[in-house]
Amino acid sequence: MEDCIFCNIAHGEIPAQKIYEDDELLAFHDVAPQAPVHFLVIPKQHIRNIMETDDSRLLGNLLDQAQKLAVALGCAENGARFVINCKSDGGQTVDHLHIHVLGGRPLAWPPG
Ligand code: AMP
Repeated sequence: MEDCIFCNIAHGEIPAQKIYEDDELLAFHDVAPQAPVHFLVIPKQHIRNIMETDDSRLLGNLLDQAQKLAVALGCAENGARFVINCKSDGGQTVDHLHIHVLGGRPLAWPPG
């Protein structure tokens, strides 16, 4: 999708600090990190949010890759937070499905 920033990153039209890439998925560091580890995992395919897909295979792969990268980036021992914001009440600001992974410090709960 032309005006989608994450589609543009997936197509190499906007630079990002990529961590992982395959035919289906891309992971990159968040441009405004909220923790020492803060990266995003996205499908390359434009899916607006988690409520707009029933592709359980893709969703499984997204989560699996997020978990593997969290371990690779040092979060195995103390853990991390895996977050999917959805639409306005969920605080989603980029309308392209993504999982946030935040780690490297204790995180408060509940969110504001
Ligand atoms: P959300 O509020 O869940 O939609 O999260 C969107 C996230 O994308 C925010 O944490 C932003 O900091 C991040 N973001 C926006 N633009 C970029 C970019 N060009 N590269 C990396 N992360 C970005």
